[in-house]
Amino acid sequence: MTIYLDHGATAFPRAPGVAQAMVRFLDEASGNPGRSGHRLSVAASRTIEAAREEVAALLGGDPERTLLGPGATFWLNTVLASALGEGTRVVTSALEHNAVMRPLRFLEESRGVEVVVVEAADPNGAPTAEEVAARVAEAPTALVVLTHASNVSGAVLPVAEAARAVAPVPVLVDAAQTAGSLPIAFIDLGAAALVCSGHKGLLGPPGIGVLLLASHFEVEPLLRGGTGSRSESEEMPEFLPDRLEAGTVNGAGAAGLGAACAWLGERTIEAVAEHERRLVRRLADDLSRIPGVQLHGWDEWAPHTGVLSFTLDGADSGELAAWLDRTHGICLRAGLHCAPAAHRRLGTFPNGTLRAGIGPLNSEEDIDALVEAVRMSASL
Ligand code: PMP
Repeated sequence: MTIYLDHGATAFPRAPGVAQAMVRFLDEASGNPGRSGHRLSVAASRTIEAAREEVAALLGGDPERTLLGPGATFWLNTVLASALGEGTRVVTSALEHNAVMRPLRFLEESRGVEVVVVEAADPNGAPTAEEVAARVAEAPTALVVLTHASNVSGAVLPVAEAARAVAPVPVLVDAAQTAGSLPIAFIDLGAAALVCSGHKGLLGPPGIGVLLLASHFEVEPLLRGGTGSRSESEEMPEFLPDRLEAGTVNGAGAAGLGAACAWLGERTIEAVAEHERRLVRRLADDLSRIPGVQLHGWDEWAPHTGVLSFTLDGADSGELAAWLDRTHGICLRAGLHCAPAAHRRLGTFPNGTLRAGIGPLNSEEDIDALVEAVRMSASL
């Protein structure tokens, strides 16, 4: 039996209907979207536009400013490279994923971008809106980039408050850990841009990610290429989505993403959030009663996703994860979770933690199985 508790990395299973929608696309509708004008090309375009509408509706974005690309990493790189010119300044948190920190360090090196990491008073590293605004106020700042929730501890950052506090400085929100798991109304968030993966909380397939843009925020393409439109020109079209969607869009991925968003829309993200909150609280409560277990970055009163990091005194997290998989069929992720800065902040660098990531289809039995297995390991 497999007990999957690694939703922080990717969803499993995907939402019901995702695989079927992808097969249907490949078998019945996979012309090149927007290119040829024949029935299969039109069918592919329709599938992609329907997915765009679904995901925009779910996240409260404008479908005309909702872009589909290969993943969250691609869109984060796109916005960071566009917004951070030579010698500009960016403010960010100590909880960012390497999908943000590596492009920032590259831009620091290549363009002399000043990267300011907010040192939060909160022991878990989540900055308040005031702490972010204070660093922004120190010098002209081109961009604030914040993860919506830590992929290590599950702590939720106050991104809407931060966007209000730093306005008119644009805020880029990395919602890879929250889209589909916490209600998001992009237009009300006040952010300039929001990025997420299709394959995590949205329960879609890998290979597709989403960028939402506010009406006033323009982004330069990272990649340039064919779009099927304005083929007479050797410049990228000025209009969206073509300006930012160079090359053939992943239609099978879009079909899967659209089906996943439709399923989530029916179930409602509020219900998913409530389910994950209940299970993560149960997990935290029960694990904290096991002698030797330490929770990292857990605060039962603070907003939280379904992600929880823990260690067992005297146990190597990697070995414990392998043992859980081998002996109990429990899948979770140990290590640094592509977020060394967050682990440094939590005091868990370089050994890392075990991270449980709860999804909408996990049950109380899954949580109890993990707790029992950790209890058994603690007593060995
Ligand atoms: N940001 C965060 C907070 C993440 O957790 C991840 C995925 N682990 C990413 C960005 C990158 O997402 P992807 O790998 O889907 O591009």
